[in-house]
Amino acid sequence: MTTLLFSSGTFFFLKGKLSQSYSGTAYALQGGGCTAGCAFCAQSRFSSSRDMLSRVKWYPMDLDEAKGRMGAFKRFCLQTVYRPGFREEALEVMKKVNTKGKSLTTVPVEGLEEFAEAGVDYIGVGLDTTEDMFTRISKPFPFSRYMEFIEEAVEVFGKRRVYVHLVFGLGEKSEDFLSLMERIYSMGAEVALFAFTPVKGTLMQDMSPPSIQDYRVVQTVRYYLSRGYPLSRIIKDGKLLLPSERYHFNTSGCPTCDRPFYNESPKDKELYNIPKVMRD
Ligand code: SF4
Repeated sequence: MTTLLFSSGTFFFLKGKLSQSYSGTAYALQGGGCTAGCAFCAQSRFSSSRDMLSRVKWYPMDLDEAKGRMGAFKRFCLQTVYRPGFREEALEVMKKVNTKGKSLTTVPVEGLEEFAEAGVDYIGVGLDTTEDMFTRISKPFPFSRYMEFIEEAVEVFGKRRVYVHLVFGLGEKSEDFLSLMERIYSMGAEVALFAFTPVKGTLMQDMSPPSIQDYRVVQTVRYYLSRGYPLSRIIKDGKLLLPSERYHFNTSGCPTCDRPFYNESPKDKELYNIPKVMRD
């Protein structure tokens, strides 16, 4: 029996009946916690909030039961942790789940072809931060291994089907963050942007999240990079290219990805990442 944890934001029950909120993606997380110690992460071995990932609470459900309820979703997104057996379990889950789209977000793993054969069509890479920050954050693999993994993943899944997760506001230099995004796009991958969210019980619980203004700059840069602009054109003489569309503050990620209220409370006046359904 495999138990997964499901995000309260997209897969929840009212009076015992499945009730789907607006996301087309079912978000699942491997149980058991992570053996890595990333300082910001609620799944880290140093965290006392392992029922959380970012500010979202997750609830256990058996895979076989969950599988039968997947019809309402276009995509299944599995976030792995890093612990013994995580790869085999993730592969088994991906073979069983029958949604049309399947995304896997993970640390560097061997044998990506097997995941592709199991129907995974998009992959997320938990790079999270810039090279300078790797020791401070305590990432489980060297920066170079993540970069190799991104290359391998682009080869297996194709260009623009690899989403590198980056968390803005962990204490990195802004210029390093922007250059890293440009490097990721030059490799044929995409960036899924997150705003650092201090979670109670983690090593970084007392830090502040980034300002919304700084985050808007990073979102605007990501938006233009994803449309093929070089960084030198996006920021010229210290001036940021103005956004030309309304949608550049939307959540970035695989098709149908919304990650609702992952970085902010629904009560907040301004959302870091605006779920697509709320954009109009
Ligand atoms: S490897 Fe991923 S799940 Fe594990 S502590 Fe780091 S960020 Fe969290």
